[in-house]
Amino acid sequence: MKFSDIHGHSSIKEQLVALADSDRIPHALLLEGKQGTGKFALARALAQYIHCENRQNGDSCGVCPSCIQHQTFNHIDTIFSYPVIKKKNSTRPPVSDDYSEEWHQFLEEDGYMDLATWMRVLGNPSTQPQMYVTESDDLIHKLAFTSHRSRYKIVLMWLPERMNEQCANKMLKLIEEPLGDSIFIITSDNPGEILPTIYSRCRRIEVNRLSDSDVADYLTENFAIEPQDAVAIAHTAEGSVTEAVRQLSVADESRLYLAKFMELMRLAYQRKIVELRKWSVEVSEMSREQQMAFMRYCTRLMRENFIMNLHDPELNYLNRAEADFSVRFSPFINERNVERLVSTFDNAITDVAGNTNSKILFFDVAIRVILLLRS
Ligand SMILES: [Zn+2]
Repeated sequence: MKFSDIHGHSSIKEQLVALADSDRIPHALLLEGKQGTGKFALARALAQYIHCENRQNGDSCGVCPSCIQHQTFNHIDTIFSYPVIKKKNSTRPPVSDDYSEEWHQFLEEDGYMDLATWMRVLGNPSTQPQMYVTESDDLIHKLAFTSHRSRYKIVLMWLPERMNEQCANKMLKLIEEPLGDSIFIITSDNPGEILPTIYSRCRRIEVNRLSDSDVADYLTENFAIEPQDAVAIAHTAEGSVTEAVRQLSVADESRLYLAKFMELMRLAYQRKIVELRKWSVEVSEMSREQQMAFMRYCTRLMRENFIMNLHDPELNYLNRAEADFSVRFSPFINERNVERLVSTFDNAITDVAGNTNSKILFFDVAIRVILLLRS
């Protein structure tokens, strides 16, 4: 991982490079901030930079033997430490090394380190990973009893807030009384949950959220997505790539909802009762969660169309497909009908939750929409 592989964060990169260049790297460095901004990628890039045999223009070279070892997770003086889950049929609490294959897969798959992805890669999405006391024992062993090839042995630690108490107490000693030339580069999503004595021993750098355009660039580079849709998602992801990617999967579902919403509005406008009955049967065949999500979606689009009718595009948050439809549809949503349309969908959410006959319910929704669209 080179610094240039990472989106945004130019001032933090400069700060990290300056620390390494001045050879005053703190013994324990903590990069803290919200999930999904690339903190661990920065930590990896710093480790690679520190070990690089041919630093160039404030970055590692990417081609020297040390960089190659970093990029293939084989660097002898770099130790990864991260939370894991207990193995079946094992009495000993697990250590990071028990999951090194999964860890490398995770790093390659998700540079933004989504914990939910890690739990899936570990093979058990419902068990919270932890760092056990065995992990601190293992680190002590590696730092004290194995020789260095480079000047520094570097521990890249992810989520120290997930140490259990025993582990945290032993780890504190390791951070208070450094073993040899060792450096801890630690990243935390929830620094408030780190043992305060460990936290206070670390030199801390806050990693801010990414800009909307950094997040949008990441989306267009990594997914088949229109630039306008990427901007709309980035706008609500608050500077977190993991949040943006999560919303992208929600966006797939919203394509289905948009199709059903457009169908309802067209048929209702044309008063096509037979087709509307078919529409209500199709909606009633969705799962109950989907029916509620769909009604919430209709509520949102109604509001957005009303706003569009007020001709203040700055206030609109629509993706491109929604905007294309709404340009023509919004003139039908006005002060006279918006409230009653919104409450028609809102009431339907309550009714779905209350186990009503959904075929009748959605046909009733369709009839109301016919009447309200013309008012
Ligand atoms: Zn290099």
